[in-house]
Amino acid sequence: MSDELTLGLKCRLCGKLYPKEALNFCTDDFGPLEVVYDYDAVGRVLDRETIRSRPRNMWRYRELLPIDGEPTVGLHVGGTPLIRADRLARALGVAELYIKNDAVNHPTLSFKDRVVGVALSKAVELGYRTVGCASTGNLAGSVAANAAAAGLEAYVLIPDNLEAGKVLGCSIYGAKVVAIKGNYDHVNRLCSQIAFKFGWGFVNVNLRPFYAEGSKTMGFEIAEDLGWRAPDHVVAPMAGGSLIGKIHKSFKEFAALGIIDGPITTRMFGAQATGCNPISNTVKTDAKKVKPVRDPQTIAKSLAIGDPADGYFASQLIRDTGGWSEDVDDDAIVDAMKLLGETEGIFAETAGGVTLAVARKLIEQGKIDRDGSTVICITGNGLKTQEALHGKVPEPAVIRPSLEEFEALMGLEAGELVAAGV
Ligand SMILES: *Cc1c(COP(=O)(O)O)cnc(C)c1O
Ligand SMILES: [Zn+2]
Repeated sequence: MSDELTLGLKCRLCGKLYPKEALNFCTDDFGPLEVVYDYDAVGRVLDRETIRSRPRNMWRYRELLPIDGEPTVGLHVGGTPLIRADRLARALGVAELYIKNDAVNHPTLSFKDRVVGVALSKAVELGYRTVGCASTGNLAGSVAANAAAAGLEAYVLIPDNLEAGKVLGCSIYGAKVVAIKGNYDHVNRLCSQIAFKFGWGFVNVNLRPFYAEGSKTMGFEIAEDLGWRAPDHVVAPMAGGSLIGKIHKSFKEFAALGIIDGPITTRMFGAQATGCNPISNTVKTDAKKVKPVRDPQTIAKSLAIGDPADGYFASQLIRDTGGWSEDVDDDAIVDAMKLLGETEGIFAETAGGVTLAVARKLIEQGKIDRDGSTVICITGNGLKTQEALHGKVPEPAVIRPSLEEFEALMGLEAGELVAAGV
């Protein structure tokens, strides 16, 4: 792309414009900054035909991503399956249900590879050699892996209570992993200080406006795989509250460019854990401001952000689209992880359990109507949060390699006949 389709950054509160630099807040009112595109220019190059002609990864929508040159990091991210989930649909009593499965995203098995691919490609463009992040787990692994593959030095900061799989999943890539005695909000505050003082590129701090745009590709893929249309309902997990907004933005952009038909009437539904529910609480109590949760307690550690950066915008979006938000406790999270495994053969992490359990609750409440099309966003892989299932799934039966013992296990008497092929 020699034409620059990204014009700059803009404050989401006051509209003040800024150049394309590593800056995430407005110096007048501390409002978050968002990327501004030249949509007329994008519309001259991007259409269904062009998209279809490109490899099946997130860069097939590259004109709607905020990098000026060729992408250099995360070249194989995206292109995850959208699965028609009929067995789960029957269990929930809905007509048309899909799972967007980012549990199998390349390379680190979560949707975070999308935001990291964009943020690190931008970091390289801006000349950074050292990058980092404040993470609840998945971001750390994704920054570590993608930085390693790009030859960048990485510092990842995490709370000190994360699952073993999440910690190992950053250390293996040679990143400097620093565990902070505290929760995510403490980690995030320290990262802002480090990014400023050391001049490093922190993907979700000073590079956040670019980072956040990567989440749109989850929505672009959903719309494309539905046959170029937006669904009636989307259920998305919320940590900082960014992903849910970007999925909706992706449908709006596609409609504005004539790639799908508008107007977009998709209702957005947000999912949180009851032990850390600042955004769903805002929606349910119709509060004007997001009240931070001081001490998050949930097995869904990837969603445990007590003071969500985009919480205000997420709750506004949910209201504006006619959606709703709910939260669920740890038992409901585990039940939903099992239900997804048993009906669709998908092993999601705790955040996926949150999303499915909330979807189920919203269907039961009548907030999601049973006739419409619903997409449930699965954002991370269950192999990384195994602790949540300890003692919750059956242990394997152990026997000697003997047919007799197997028959005894089946509850058969010795010599009893079993019908062949059953
Ligand atoms: C980070 C994360 C989210 C939510 O992301 P936000 O954009 O911060 O709301 C959802 N699911 C998983 C598994 C995550 O790691
Ligand atoms: Zn401003």
